[in-house]
Parts: sequence; structure tokens; C-alpha cells
Amino acid sequence: MLAALFAARSGAKVTLLEKNEKLGKKVYITGKGRCNCTNLCDVEDFLREVPRNPRFLYSALRLMDPEGFLALLNSLGCETKVERGRRAFPVSDHASDVTKALENGLKNQGVAIRFRAEVSRILTAGGQASGVALTSGETLPANAVIVCTGGLSYPSTGSTGDGYRWARETGHTVTACRPSLVGLRTQEAWPAQLQGLTLKNICLNAAACGKIFYSGQGELLFTHYGVSGPLAIECSAHLPDQAPVSVTLDLKPGLTAEQLDQRLLREFAAAGKKQLATVLQGLLPQRMAALLPGVLGVDGKTPCSQVSGKARALIGTRLKALPLTVTGTQDYNEAIVTRGGVDVKALNAATMESKKLPGLYFAGEVIDVDAHTGGYNLQIAWSTGALAGKSAGERP
Ligand SMILES: Cc1cc2nc3c(=O)[nH]c(=O)nc-3n(C[C@H](O)[C@H](O)[C@H](O)COP(=O)(O)OP(=O)(O)OC[C@H]3O[C@@H](n4cnc5c(N)ncnc54)[C@H](O)[C@@H]3O)c2cc1C
Repeated sequence: MLAALFAARSGAKVTLLEKNEKLGKKVYITGKGRCNCTNLCDVEDFLREVPRNPRFLYSALRLMDPEGFLALLNSLGCETKVERGRRAFPVSDHASDVTKALENGLKNQGVAIRFRAEVSRILTAGGQASGVALTSGETLPANAVIVCTGGLSYPSTGSTGDGYRWARETGHTVTACRPSLVGLRTQEAWPAQLQGLTLKNICLNAAACGKIFYSGQGELLFTHYGVSGPLAIECSAHLPDQAPVSVTLDLKPGLTAEQLDQRLLREFAAAGKKQLATVLQGLLPQRMAALLPGVLGVDGKTPCSQVSGKARALIGTRLKALPLTVTGTQDYNEAIVTRGGVDVKALNAATMESKKLPGLYFAGEVIDVDAHTGGYNLQIAWSTGALAGKSAGERP
């Protein structure tokens, strides 16, 4: 949508081809239907939220940064608000208002929008992109083609990876794709018993081959397959290729190991005949307090006065570092973004044009750039789309 809008604003005659029956089907489900459409931070902060190829985005963000996008939305009649963590949303809390505003902008700019128009391949002539072929058999000649087909996640919204195929067919490298911003599967079965429980303000450290590659503090949700929630989802963006990954949960980040041990000592002494699992409720949510002793091989019914020093030390150690083994992630049906994509080395970051096939441009999630949650992924799509559109529209 942004690519078409900016190409038209540059004076080009533009046709937007969408295989769905409406625009921005994925936008409708973003931010739980509220569309966290950007993050109102400066460019340096923005790039810190982009684990892969952040510098590729400089020119795109220079053309249109988060403030610029909000100004555009406002000018198209969609008012916005900024919430905790500088996350921006439409005032109405309806993602559909973002799409409606952009669609109106496209119509006012004279963009021809064709629905149920599925592109099957890119046409080339004389070493340049020369148009597209549709699955219907129709061909459309063009001076420039912008591929904004998204990634592979939530394929029901239309992102089925077609752009990756076209990229390969036209001589581009596509780096390995995998689901990202997604729940983590664990080898241990006990998280399933806590399904639905959220732990707040805990720390998660993840390591592979003895090296910590992610540390974060926040919320974790237990699920039938392992863990999800903000911490697990952010961690998934940093997973190395090789599994398994060792995760430890610090359930009491506010206390040092010594402070925690002192507290356990005090509370167990004061609790006398009360059962261990009951007393742990002072430190953990009830369900977790009931489950944890068993996970550690300690009987939760043990009266606190009879908990051995060894068992107390084990409980203290595990409260500070509860181990989990991550064996993989949930699949694309649940992943917020796709990691990997069209290799940025073959793209001109100042225009989004292919260095291999002049006249062919890429924008959005199809490129090998992805970010954390917080409005960054949509902003990447808006900014790279705007830059690709402007550049393609200005193409002689
Ligand atoms: C559940 C969920 C929640 C999210 N929430 C947020 C959020 O709040 N904030 C945020 O920043 N990001 C969020 N994201 C990520 C964000 O939605 C995407 O990164 C972004 O939509 C990518 O934009 P895009 O234009 O590159 O691709 P898409 O939005 O996937 O659009 C690609 C379009 O291309 C069309 N298409 C594909 N192939 C063809 C073809 N062959 N012919 C014609 N048309 C085709 C598709 O139908 C689709 O409409 C969320 C993602 C999910 C799945």
C-alpha cells in the first residue's frame, strides 16, 4: 500500500495487485486487532530493535520515520495515539481504520487496485523487469515491479512466500527462512501443566553451546507446548540455528541467591508444620508453588521444618535458575514474522532496487530484515515500501 502510494505520488501510473478480496488482510489482525502501527522512537533506538540487517534500513527510515508515518496516517484521516513503550495505535483501536485510510489515500492518488489478482511470476526483458504474469494467464507490462508479498507467517492472510520464489527465479539469494516472534517448544513436559499461567517480572536467559545469546526481563506464559508471552517471543528472534537451546528462568530477579536462601530459611523456620508447597505460595503463584517441588524431586507435602538443607539449597538455586530445554519453535501459523528472506546484499539500500535485475524492487517482510514486537515490523514495511515506491516511481 505504501509502495503504491509513494510510486503514484512520484507521478507513476500504478496498479496494485492483491490476491485477496481486500487490502491489508494481515494488518487487520495486528496488535490483537488494534494495529500497533509503529513505535514512536528515534532511528537509533529503532535499529536496536532489529536483530538482523538494521543498517539496511537507514535510507528507508530517513525517507519516512515513525513520526512521518503517523503524520501520513493523520493526513489521511486516521487519528493515532501513543501508549506504553511508545507504541502507536489508531485512536479508534480498530486496525481496519489504518487500512481504510491508506486505501482512501491510494484511491485519491489514482492507484488502480485490483483484487483477486494473483501474480504468478515476474517478467523480464533485456536484462530488466518488464512486468508480471497473473495466475489467470493475463500479463501486465511495467517499467518497474515492486514485490511486497510479505513472509510466510499466518499464510491464511495471503503471505505464502511467493516473493521468495520470484526472487530465486530472478537470480537472488534468499536466506534461510524460519518462524520468528513465536512460542518456544520445550523438552520438559511440566510447562504444559501450568498452561495459561503468566509469570510477571521474571528473567529469561538463553544459551547455546555455552554462550548466552539472549537475556530479558518481563512476562512469560506457559502453554501446552512450552512457553510463550513477551519474553519467549522476543527470545525466539535470537535463536541460533542449532538446537537444543538451554534456557534458565530467574523467578526472583529482585533477590540475590543469598537473600533468597535467607528468606527460605526464615520462612521455613516460621512455617513449622505447614507444607512446603503451601509456603512456596509466598514466593510463587499458587499453581507454580504446587508444581515446583515435584519438578525438583522434592515432596511438596513435606512439613517445612523437615525440609533438609540440601533440598532448601536446591529450591533456592532453581528459583534463581529454573532450567528448560528449548527444542524448537511453533510453526508459521503462529509466528508473528518470518526471519530470513531476500538477501539485502543484492538490494540497493538507497532505493530498494535489485542490483541483479534493474526495475525489480523489494519491500517489507519479504526482505531479510525483521524486528522485535512493538510496531517495528509494520514500520519496516511502511518505510521500505515508501522508499521502493518513490524510487520505482522516479525511474526513468
Ligand atoms: C498476528 C500478527 C500480529 C502482528 N502484529 C503486529 C503489530 O502489532 N505491529 C507490527 O509492527 N507488526 C505486527 N505484525 C507483523 C506485521 O503484520 C508484518 O510484518 C507486516 O504486515 C509485513 O508487511 P508486508 O506488506 O511486507 O506483508 P503482508 O502484510 O504479509 O502483505 C503481503 C500482501 O501481499 C499479498 N500477496 C502475496 N502473494 C501475492 C501474489 N502472488 N499475488 C498478489 N498478492 C500477493 C498478500 O495477500 C498480502 O496482502 C503482526 C503479524 C501477525 C501475524
